[in-house]
This record gives sequence, C-alpha cells and structure tokens, in this order.
Amino acid sequence: MADVENSHKIAEQALAALKAVKLAAIPKNIELWFLVAEGRSPALVRDVQRLVQPDGSILQSDADALYDAHIVRQGLSRDVIDLIQRFEDEMIKISEAVETSGANASGASEKLRFLSAELKRSAADNPAISALMDGVLSVAKSVREANERLEQQLSKSSNEVETLRRNIENIQQEAMLDPLTGVKNRKTFDLEMGRLVRDSKETGEPLALIMADVDHFKKFNDKWGHQTGDHVLRLVADVMNANIKGQDVLARYGGEEFGIILPGTSLANAVMLANRIRAAVESRRLKKRRTDEDLGLITLSMGAALLRWDDTSETLIERADTCLYAAKRAGRNRVIDESEDVAPTGESTAA
Ligand code: GH3
Ligand code: MG
Ligand code: MG
Repeated sequence: MADVENSHKIAEQALAALKAVKLAAIPKNIELWFLVAEGRSPALVRDVQRLVQPDGSILQSDADALYDAHIVRQGLSRDVIDLIQRFEDEMIKISEAVETSGANASGASEKLRFLSAELKRSAADNPAISALMDGVLSVAKSVREANERLEQQLSKSSNEVETLRRNIENIQQEAMLDPLTGVKNRKTFDLEMGRLVRDSKETGEPLALIMADVDHFKKFNDKWGHQTGDHVLRLVADVMNANIKGQDVLARYGGEEFGIILPGTSLANAVMLANRIRAAVESRRLKKRRTDEDLGLITLSMGAALLRWDDTSETLIERADTCLYAAKRAGRNRVIDESEDVAPTGESTAA
C-alpha cells in the first residue's frame, strides 16, 4: 500500500514539475518526469536543470532528446540494439516459416514470438544473453536458409513430377491414336465399341455403325505411289472428322477402312451422314503436289447397321461389313444399309 501511495505522490510531483516547465502531459513526458521526481538518477536531474530556458520552460525537442538518452537507450550499445533488431527480424521470419510450413500444430510460432520478446528484454541489460542471442541468431538463420533451400528443391521436384505426369498423359493419348491420320486407332475403336454397346443396351438409346472403305485404293497406290496414298487417307479422315460431332467415334479400322460409331443415332440418320461424307470426298478435286497432275476421283463405299438387342460388337461390325461389301458389289461409291436386302457373303474387310 505504501508503494501505491508513494507512486501516486511521485506521479503528482512529476505532473506538477511538467506543468512548471510548460511541457504537455503526454505519456513520454510523464514517464521521463516520473524518473526525475524519483530522483534516482542524478545525471537525469542534472540534464533537466541544464535545459531550463530563461523563461522557466523546457522545449519539447529537448525533452525528446532526454527521453532517447535516458529511457530508450538505457545505456545500450549500438551493437546490442542492432543485435536485438536482427534477432527480432529473424524470429519473425522463422515464425512465419513455421506458420506456412504447417508445423504450427503446437503453437510453435506464438511460442517463438513470445520467447524472442522475452530474450530481447533480457538482452537489454545482460551481455551474456546478448552473446547467446548472437549464437541462436546464426543457428536460426542457417536453419531458415536450409529450410528455404528445401522448399526450392521441393517446388522444383513437384514441377518435374508435373512435367512427367503430362508426358505420361501425352503418351497415353498418342497410344490411342492412329499416327498417320490422327483419328482413333483400332484398339481404341474396339474399346469404344464395347463401351457404347453396353451403354446402348442399358439406356435403350439406338447405336448405329458405319464402316467405310476407299474404292480401288490398291490401283491408286500403284499409280501414284504410297506417299500420295497416305495423303488421301489423311484427307478422308479429315472429311469424316469434320462431319461427326459430340459422342461420335471415328477410327481407322485398318488399311484404308474406317469405322464411325454413332450413339443415339437412327439408321436413317447414319445413312444420311454416310452419304454426306461420301459426297464430300467425291467432290474433292485432287492434284499431285509437285506435278499438278489430276489424281482423279476418290470414292468411298459404305455400309450402315443398327445395334440389335442380341448383338455383340462383333455381330454389329459383321453386319455393317456385309452392307459395305454389298455396296462394293453394287458398283462402289455408294452407301448400303441393312434395311436393304443384302445377303451375307462371308467376306470380311478386316485388314
Ligand atoms: P476395293 O475397292 O475393293 O476396296 O479395292 P481396294 O484396292 O481398295 O482394296 P484392296 O483391299 O485390294 O487394297 C487395299 C489397299 O490399300 C492395299 C494397300 O496398298 C492400301 N493401303 C492400306 N493401308 C495403307 C496405308 O497406310 N497407306 C497407303 N498409301 N496405302 C494403304
Ligand atoms: Mg478398298
Ligand atoms: Mg479394304
């Protein structure tokens, strides 16, 4: 109680003294004049007396300088002040790193900040602690730097993993495609047939299939060369690709034969599409690149069939093939579907 009373007395004296020297009762001034009133630092009392102006006042700028000299620095050397500052900065960086690294489960970051503030206070008047802080600082810095290197390494590794993942995806994509034409290959065709036949049986939606084969392609190759033949296969694939949509699956079934699977499509619509493709290919006027010679007409024969309840992929393909060969026999460059009276020939177009 005596302490409380005493402190109030000192504070009153401090305020009265402040008023006497015409200084504002702001916290800084009050704190300083409290020390003056306590009279424990003769040096401070002397400094105050020295600064009194002829009119009895003290300038605020002089009071600020006193505050810096007697309260802020408290005799700390520049080195210690710098050390404390660096220590604080480092601890803030470490606690941020702890927070972002997710290692903060036990409140490590708050503890670090607390300990750092405590150490900072103690270091102010204990050179041994300053020295220890110096040691901690250099260890902490190297740990943080190692942590940063690890983070860089991790992010580099995760970039590499991402690149590998994309490469694998590309390779998987490529494995599904025909390298010459870029449309799906036979393997993908078989897989997609299996899937779409199952879907159609489940949903009751129709499923149509078109099989298409280039007419007299052997003669074409013999006359113009295999490379020009390859160009024609690409062109046929492009025309087909431009005419399909959505869920439709276009694949190179083999050699110069293509398959188009059409989910949700009636036989009549499949025939219409086949005729559109046939007409589009026939309308191309092809020339040999270097010599400008007319390559003549390219035509397609096509067969179209619709999935039945007792079909498998194989029986559906067989019926579309039978129609395709009926189209060949009927003079080529035409589409025949299974609503027409076509007898199975036992002939297969599989390459
Ligand atoms: P048809 O009208 O009865 O179908 O006669 P066609 O000559 O087209 O049929 P055939 O099965 O006798 O010959 C197919 C030809 O397709 C043989 C082969 O040279 C050619 N061919 C198959 N694959 C390729 C290819 O990748 N590139 C080229 N340029 N030609 C191919
Ligand atoms: Mg052919
Ligand atoms: Mg063929």
